[in-house]
Amino acid sequence: MALKVLLPVALRHLTGNRDEVELNGDSVGEVIDGLVRRFPELKPHLLNDEGQVRNFVNVYINDEDVRYLQEDRTPVKEGDVVSIVPSIAGGNLPAVEAASDSLDLSQDEIQRYSRHLIMPEVGMEGQKKLKAAKILLVGTGGLGAPLGLYLSAAGIGTLGLVDFDTVDFSNLQRQVIHGTKDVGRPKLDSAREKISDINPNVRVVTYEAMLTSDNALDIIAEYDIVIDGTDNFPTRYLVNDASVLLRKPNVYGSIFRFEGQASVFDARQGPCYRCLYPEPPPPGLVPSCAEGGVLGILPGIIGLVQATEAVKLILGSGRSLVGRLILYDALQMKFRELKLRKNPKCPLCGDQPTIKALIDYQQFCGISPQAAAGAAEPEESDEMTPKELKTVLDNGGTPVILDVREPHEYDICRLPGSILIPLGQLGQRMDELNSDDEIVVHCKLGGRSAKAVDQMQKAGFSNVKNLTGGIDRWSQEVDPSVPRY
Ligand code: ZN
Repeated sequence: MALKVLLPVALRHLTGNRDEVELNGDSVGEVIDGLVRRFPELKPHLLNDEGQVRNFVNVYINDEDVRYLQEDRTPVKEGDVVSIVPSIAGGNLPAVEAASDSLDLSQDEIQRYSRHLIMPEVGMEGQKKLKAAKILLVGTGGLGAPLGLYLSAAGIGTLGLVDFDTVDFSNLQRQVIHGTKDVGRPKLDSAREKISDINPNVRVVTYEAMLTSDNALDIIAEYDIVIDGTDNFPTRYLVNDASVLLRKPNVYGSIFRFEGQASVFDARQGPCYRCLYPEPPPPGLVPSCAEGGVLGILPGIIGLVQATEAVKLILGSGRSLVGRLILYDALQMKFRELKLRKNPKCPLCGDQPTIKALIDYQQFCGISPQAAAGAAEPEESDEMTPKELKTVLDNGGTPVILDVREPHEYDICRLPGSILIPLGQLGQRMDELNSDDEIVVHCKLGGRSAKAVDQMQKAGFSNVKNLTGGIDRWSQEVDPSVPRY
C-alpha cells in the first residue's frame, strides 16, 4: 500500500529536510519500520530499545490519533496520510464561572470596549465576564508577550504573571511586550508596565518565581484558566498536572523554529497533556528555542490562538480546542487539525489514576543529577570549561576543536581553527576524525556537543571532551569579541 508520511520540523534535519515521503506498508508498524530503514538516524527518535514507538511521539492516520487503538498493528490503506508528531524543550465547554454581577462597567470602559459591546457574541454580559475573569500566564516570553498584550486590551480583569527572568537582547526579536529600554530589567516589571499602559483597568498580579511543585497549586488555585507559555518540559508537565488536579482548563501552546502547536487541555471533557505525551523526551533530544531557534513571528500566532481560546472559554462561546491539536507550519502557511483522545490509562486523568499529587518534575524529565547520571550525559571528567581550554591552548596544546553546530551558526561565530561537522552528520563523517587525537567538542550551549561526545565515546574515541556551556560561555568568560546569539 503506498501512502504518504508527513514529517515534523523537529525531525527534518534527519531526513535531508524532507517534509513528506512515500512509503509502503499494511500497518502503522510496517510504515514506521520502513521509515527508519530509509532514515536510520530517525530510529532513536521514534523507537525505544524494544522497537516500540516512543512515548513522546504520536502517530496519526488521516489526522486521527491511533495510539489508543491497536497501536502499531493499526492497518493502513492506499492513499492514507500518516503524520508523526513528537512533543516539542496540547467540545464545547461550560463557560468559566465568574461572578460578573457586581462588576459594572464604567463610562470609560464602555467606550474602551465598544467594539466588543456591539457584538452579540460578547455584549455587556460577555464583557463583564471578561472583567471578572482571572487568567494566569505562566511565562512572559515568546508566547506570554502577545498573550499579555491582547488579553489586557480585551479587558481581562485579573492577569497573573509568573516569570523570574530578565529581558535579554536576544528576546526582543519575538517577546514584543518588552522593549529595548527594558533590557536587563525583570520581565515582570516591563510586562506590568506595558499592560498598565494598554489597559489600566487590568489588575496585574506578579509572581517573581519559578513555578514549582511547592507553589504551583497555591498560585493556580487563584485563577479560572491557566495558559501555558513555558519553554521547558518540567514546567509544562507541572502546569498540566496542577491544572488537572485543580480541575482548571490549561490552554497549551508550543513553538519550534517555524512550527507551532496549540490545544486546550481539560481533563473533565477531554485529554490532558499526559494523554498526548505520557513521557518527555530525554534531555537534549529536542533542542530548545535557544538551541534550535524560532521564527520571531511564530509565538505571536500561537500565543494569539491561545488568547482566543481563553477568551472563548470565558465567554462560553464557540467550539474550544478541547480534544483537538492545531499544528501550524509557517513556511507552508498551513494549519492542520488532529483529533486527540483521552488515554483511559493516563496516570493522571485516566480511569485509575496513580498520580494524585505533584511530583518532582526535574527528575521526571531526567534533569536532576540522580536521573542524569543514568542518562546519556557525559561524566564530569568529560567536561572542559572554556577557561580550561584557553589554558590548554595558551600552553601550546593543540587539541582538535570540533564544532557540531549547523553551518549557519558557524557563519555567525566560530572558534579559531575549529572544524565543523554538524551533529546530524557526525555518524557518517566520524572517519574524518582520528580516535587517537585529543578532541574538544563544542556547540552553542553544550547540549548537542554532549550528545556528540557520547556518540564518539561509543564509537571508540577515548580522549574527547565537551566544552561546558559551549561557544556562548567561551564568549562570556574568555573572548567577548565572539558574538553571542
Ligand atoms: Zn491525561
